[in-house]
Amino acid sequence: MNSEYLTASEGRILWIEGNCGDGGRTEAEIRDRATLENLLCGRSYQVRRATGCQQAWDVLKSEPCDVILVETRLPDGTGYELCHWLKSRVQFQQIPVILMESPGDRLNRSTVFNVGGADYLMQPLHPQETIKRVEYQITLLRQQRQLTEQNLGLSWERNKSQIAQLALEQQQAFLRMVIDANPNLIFIKDWNGRFTLANRTIADLYGTTVEGLLGKTEADFNPNRHQTDRLLEGDREIMAAGKARLVAAEPLRLATGEVRWFQTNKIPLISEDGKIRHLLGVSTDITERQEAERALWSHAERERLLRGIVQQIHECLDLDDTLKCTVTQVREFLGADRVLIYRPEAGDDYRAVMESVESPWQPALGTSVNYGWLSEAFRELEAADDIQIRAIADTHAPEVPEAVRERLEGLQVAACLILPLIRHYPQRTENDGGWEHSLWGLLVIHQCGGPREWRPEEIEALRSLATPIAIAIQQGELYARLQVANRELEHLATLDGLTGLANRRQFDTYLHREWQRMLRDEAPLSAIMGDVDFFKAYNDTYGHQMGDECLKAIAKVLDRCAKRPADLACRYGGEEFAIVLPDTPPEGALQVAEEIRTEIQKLHVKHETSAISNCVTLSLGIACRVPTPDLAPEHLIELADAALYEAKRLGRNRIVCDRG
Ligand code: GH3
Ligand code: MG
Ligand code: MG
Repeated sequence: MNSEYLTASEGRILWIEGNCGDGGRTEAEIRDRATLENLLCGRSYQVRRATGCQQAWDVLKSEPCDVILVETRLPDGTGYELCHWLKSRVQFQQIPVILMESPGDRLNRSTVFNVGGADYLMQPLHPQETIKRVEYQITLLRQQRQLTEQNLGLSWERNKSQIAQLALEQQQAFLRMVIDANPNLIFIKDWNGRFTLANRTIADLYGTTVEGLLGKTEADFNPNRHQTDRLLEGDREIMAAGKARLVAAEPLRLATGEVRWFQTNKIPLISEDGKIRHLLGVSTDITERQEAERALWSHAERERLLRGIVQQIHECLDLDDTLKCTVTQVREFLGADRVLIYRPEAGDDYRAVMESVESPWQPALGTSVNYGWLSEAFRELEAADDIQIRAIADTHAPEVPEAVRERLEGLQVAACLILPLIRHYPQRTENDGGWEHSLWGLLVIHQCGGPREWRPEEIEALRSLATPIAIAIQQGELYARLQVANRELEHLATLDGLTGLANRRQFDTYLHREWQRMLRDEAPLSAIMGDVDFFKAYNDTYGHQMGDECLKAIAKVLDRCAKRPADLACRYGGEEFAIVLPDTPPEGALQVAEEIRTEIQKLHVKHETSAISNCVTLSLGIACRVPTPDLAPEHLIELADAALYEAKRLGRNRIVCDRG
């Protein structure tokens, strides 16, 4: 017996006796009753005694009871009658009634059950057996109550789930309303991309109903398999990764065939078993935003490209580089087949002076085109300083004269753009400091593959390039002139003004360079120093002017005698000359020096005040060394100078050679 169940309150026994007290009972009966009562009380039963029906009724009205023990013979009736009566009352029906055979009575078993008795006990009473039977009844009662409670519970559960179901349905309907009213696309797809939930917005986009969408995949609406396969692949990737992802932009083909762009937040859904088989998506239509951004981007991108082009063109100093850069950059920017720069020639002929052409189109460089049909327009532009672009989408257009069309067809041109390049220059008239302009040339863009509708933004971009290109061209022309001037200046800076020989500066530079070269080649370098004898006296006698003429004549001799390409003769200063003879041994230098000396003598320049001759003579000193790193080229000059000094000392009009 479950003692837990048998609490005192559940073990209330009403014992209905036939005799009041113990009167009329045998001693054995009294003992058995006492034993039974003790046993019951010992097991936490509360035993309440009542005599007869009336007393029993009084007890039952006021106190609850779990089991009734009733003797068959009662003072005011029988146990059977009482039992029968109890069973007919709803409030007592559940209480098990055990009929006890009264001493001296004979218990009728069938009557016991007929009147609804639960059990019976025969005389003599066996306390243990009685306990067992009572406990059995209490157990039954307990189970019955439990069953009733469970039944009650079950029906509550059932109600509860019904209520929950109802609440759920209400919730779902609410949810349905919310998701259908949402302007975003809301959907759930399974692993195979089938819609298991969709809102009306997405169904509308697909041109179907929500029901029509369920069970379908993107592939059922979009014939582009590549696109739908990629979408499914991407969705599976997110499910496999198990992490929500914001997909920035995805194309979606609508029922109308229009493709719109969506930004979608994709959230993998975890099933009850912990696996991910579904993906929740909330998509926002970003088509307009995307287009605005793209337009903005392409505008910004175009600006960036144009700035780059202008910068590149401006970086070119040389005119040719400027033109080359212009045609290349413009062709790449417009994705054209050929870009040319034309310069005007006689009449209305224009010749292509620079070109960038994409293969397989034939080159047109050097060819000329007659733009007579546009010359009027060009002249107007020139006068108005206006930049107007001539756009021809199809060279077969009626506005294009037959002859020009043929010429263009010969160059495979199907469409073209013509941009006049107008050059500005300061006004030559004396009254104002304004600018004049003239047509410098044409920038012509050819499309060879087929006609091309030139887009307004392309024409606009080209127009924005016109001025920077013209400036770059002007800069290139200025640079070319500057180059010429610089070359002249450079030339002048290295020459001696009187004799036209190299000057001292050039000599020093050249000597150093050749010294290094000979050092590398381990070859001899010779230097000759020459000084006119008694030149002061010459000047004094014939005047400075004549002295200059004399120096010029000597210079010519030197220039003639230093004949190898690497030889360099210079005026070293005053009436002193020097010659560098690379890769020349002393013998060679001596030969050159001797030739100079004799050639000067042969000039027969009269010098009556010379102490050694009646004509101008020259003394020469030679030094020859194979350069070594510890030696400086200046040293070679010092040595040659020393040799010259020696030649003077020895009587002039002679050569002294230092061979080292
Ligand atoms: P020596 O034989 O020792 O060289 O005698 P010299 O008179 O030539 O000696 P010096 O070097 O003293 O004189 C050089 C003269 O050369 C002095 C100067 O009047 C003259 N001279 C230097 N440069 C020029 C020049 O450019 N033109 C002319 N006419 N004379 C110059
Ligand atoms: Mg001198
Ligand atoms: Mg001299």
